[in-house]
Parts: sequence; structure tokens; C-alpha cells
Amino acid sequence: MPYDTQPPASHFINGRYVEDSAGDLIEVVYPATGAVIARIHAATPAIIEEAITSARAAQAAWAALSGTERGRILRRASEIMRERNHDLSVLETFDTGKPYQETSVVDATSGADALEYYGGMAATLTGEHIPLAGGDWAYTKREALGLCVGIGAWNYPTQIACWKGAPALACGNAMIFKPSETTPLCALKVAEILHEAGLPAGLYNVVQGMGAVGAALVTDPRVDKVSLTGSVPTGRKVYAAAADGMKHVTMELGGKSPLLVFEDADIDAAVSGAILGNFYSTGQVCSNGTRVFVQNAVIEPFLARLAERLKGAVIGDPQDPATNIGPMASARQLEIVEGYVAKGLEEGARLVAGGTRIAGEGFWFPPTVFADVTDDMTIAREEIFGPVMSVLGFDTEDEALRRANDTPFGLAAGVFTRDLARAHRVVDAFEAGTCYINSYNDAPVEMPFGGVKMSGVGRENARAAIEHYSQLKSVYVRMGQPEAPF
Ligand code: NDP
Repeated sequence: MPYDTQPPASHFINGRYVEDSAGDLIEVVYPATGAVIARIHAATPAIIEEAITSARAAQAAWAALSGTERGRILRRASEIMRERNHDLSVLETFDTGKPYQETSVVDATSGADALEYYGGMAATLTGEHIPLAGGDWAYTKREALGLCVGIGAWNYPTQIACWKGAPALACGNAMIFKPSETTPLCALKVAEILHEAGLPAGLYNVVQGMGAVGAALVTDPRVDKVSLTGSVPTGRKVYAAAADGMKHVTMELGGKSPLLVFEDADIDAAVSGAILGNFYSTGQVCSNGTRVFVQNAVIEPFLARLAERLKGAVIGDPQDPATNIGPMASARQLEIVEGYVAKGLEEGARLVAGGTRIAGEGFWFPPTVFADVTDDMTIAREEIFGPVMSVLGFDTEDEALRRANDTPFGLAAGVFTRDLARAHRVVDAFEAGTCYINSYNDAPVEMPFGGVKMSGVGRENARAAIEHYSQLKSVYVRMGQPEAPF
């Protein structure tokens, strides 16, 4: 392999790479070929202890710096990340299988955006002055939470490591990040870059491991906050464990988001939205609009245009910049997708594209489209997390909204229409945290991102994330004498 994917050691703790080969072996697999590209070890109790102790030891001095000083380091890290975009993108592609065409413009770049954005914001984090009766007044201070734990899913390993790390550090916290065992390589690079930019040792530690390592971190009384990106079942467990210690949480969980296409929409734009919301990252995106509701009058033109556009899918070597569809991230995820496609056929959906795994090495599945999908079918109810689009017909706006909201999830939702009033009316009625009008799946750092209902609590990105990585202290100031009853 021309590119060295084996990290110097498994964990990054207290400013350096650390190994403990007593931990369970994790083989990192390149999804495009199935080849093992790195071997690392899960964290042992000794590694977890070192991560927690060093983070706690470093945090108070970090919080005592000015926001300007903290922000400068984050912004320097963002510059280094941008300079290394090519290498980081190649690594992201090895880690996840996502095509370089995507990783080179989305992953390290959005990580750098988060570092730059919160680097700029760190100096602006202030409290309020509150005038009160009789000349008294109160003020609030925005304080760090202490030690935050970030736990990542496998689809956006660099982005998730930065979306959690950047606001946490800007607010004066320390962070321990546990990547998914499926994609453990990229977060180590984020840690390296932060320290190269001047982050004091201990403030951004990366520990590897499966769910058990995450659980050990979440239940440790020295941890103040947990931010998870993962599935709803894991979210339930982690939220419950965090509640026991009354810890702060952010839960970015799964979805089964609706995308509504009205007959007055620009059909080509709607097809673009549906492609972005179903096939980008081979469909492994939490906010994907996998239930595409198309008004019956335009369903056939929509499907015809989609079929045309699918001819533009280039499936192949993910490191080739011409490729726009990579493999699934793991053999397990491929099996899950195959299972759902079989269910779709069994329950009577009409397969109009894809549907069969691509033979050979690696974990390949083509863009797949089902038409004639009904609301009760498994493929319309459960998150698949793969390149499987369900197209459902509808007649009226009310009907479409009722059906769109008939799900326990509420991460995202989109609408394509040329009618401005309708667009806003529909968005108002969506039970979803992140909505799109005539677009889909944009996630700029300036815009809060997150879900309602079972899709999670809290928000990432924007100023909103600051609320979730800091706490307010209120101070009452009496200018005269206190009046005691005796
Ligand atoms: P999982 O829920 O399986 O895992 C998420 C992370 O939690 C992994 O690092 C996992 O470790 C860890 N974990 C598992 N069990 C525990 C536990 N008991 N305590 C602490 N940590 C634990 O999700 P996937 O990695 O399979 O990712 C796919 C899911 O993530 C999808 O449902 C998707 O919708 C969601 N997602 C949500 C996003 C959002 O922002 N809303 C964005 C991206 C994905 P390990 O896997 O290594 O064992």
C-alpha cells in the first residue's frame, strides 16, 4: 500500500501516542477491498484511566486561558487541517470507503470549518448583566462543564471528532473521543493536529474500543458530559447511563426522514435532492431523506428522470477522483442493507433500480430505488443506513404531512416546491429538527444540526452547540444591606 494507514499506536493520550497491546485486537478493514489496513487495540482500564486523569489534570488551566488564546489554537488547527486536506481525505477514504470525490470536499474541510468557527467564537462567550430592583443586579457567567466524552459513529469519523471537539474546547472543556471501532483512524489525526497547533497535552485524548469502552467512559463519575453520534438503541443506553450520573448529554441519533416533492417543483432539482439525500456516502448519512413522497401527478416523470440520472453513478475505486459511489463501510452494514432489500421485495415494493450486491472483493451495493412503497412496509419505517430510496405517492399536502410525520424519528425533512408559502407552511408542520427547502442534507457549521422525537436531544454546530458544552452560573449582587427577618 503506497499510503501508510497504520497509526504509530492505538490511542492518543496526554499529547502522545500510547499503546497497550493487552487490549482486544481491532483489525481496520478497507471497505473497497476487504484488506486489513491497520491493527490497533481497544483501550484497557489502564488506558481509560490515563485518558481521564490527564484530561482532568489539564482542564482547569485551559478554562483559565482567555477565549482569544483558546480560539487561536483552534484556528491554527483548522489551518493545518486545510493544508493537509489531501492526505486526510485519502485516509478518510481508507477508513470509511467513501469516495475521495466526497472526502476531499466534505470531511477534513467541515472539520476545519468547525475548528475555525468555534476558534472565532471562543472569545465571544460572555454572560449577561441583569438589572434588578433597588439598584441590585445579577450577572451570569458561562463556564466550562469540565470533562466531555465524545462517541462517534463510523460514517463521518473526522467530522464527528471535530464537531464535538471544537465547541467543547472553545468552551474550556477537555474531551476524550472514542471513535467507532469500524473507523478508528481519522480521529487520531485530529488529535495530532490539535496538539501540533499548540493544544496543551491531555485536552483532546482519543481512546479506541467497542461499546464497552464507551460505556466505561459514560459511567465514570469524573465525566461531566457525553455527546453521542449513533443509533437510537445505543442512544437509549448511553442516555440512561448518563442520567444516572446527572450528566449533560447531546444525542445525535438516527432517522427515517421524509422528502416531499410537490407537482410544482423543479423536478430536476428534486431529483438532485433525492440523490443527495439517498446516495451520497453510499446512503450512510443519518439525515437522509429515505422516504421520498412524490405527488402522484409527477411520480412517473420523477422516476424517469431519476433513472436517467442514475446512469451518472460511477462505482469504482474510491480513491479515483472520478468515482462517486464507494462501498458500504463494513460487511455487517452490507448484510443489513441486503436484508432490507429482501424485505422490500417480500412486502411488495417495486424495485426500479439496483437491488443486488456487486460481486467481488469489498462491500459493494449499488444505488437502489423502490417505487410503490407504502407506509407500513419495513423499508419505509426502519432506518436502513444504505443506498436504498423508497418512493411513495401522495395526493394532497395534508396527507403528505400526516404521513411524513408518522414516524418515531425526527431528525430531518425536506420539501421541493416553487410555492414559497407552501414551502414555509410545510416546514412549520414538519416534526423534524433540521429542515431543507429546495435542497437536501446541507450541514454548514453556521446552522444548528440535530433531531427531535427519537432522533435525539441537543444541537451540534452554530452558537446552539455552545449551550450544550457550557453551563451558566448566576450571581446576585446586592448593593445595599440584605433585609433579614430577625
Ligand atoms: P452505533 O449506535 O452502533 O454506535 C455509535 C457509537 O457508540 C460507536 O462508537 C459504538 O461503539 C458506541 N457504543 C455502542 N454501544 C455503546 C454503549 N453501551 N455505551 C457507549 N458507547 C457505545 O451506531 P453506528 O456506529 O452503527 O452508526 C450508525 C448510526 O448512527 C445510525 O443509526 C445513524 O443514523 C446514526 N448517526 C447519526 C448522526 C446524527 O448526527 N444524528 C450522524 C451519523 C450517524 P462501537 O461501534 O465501536 O462498538
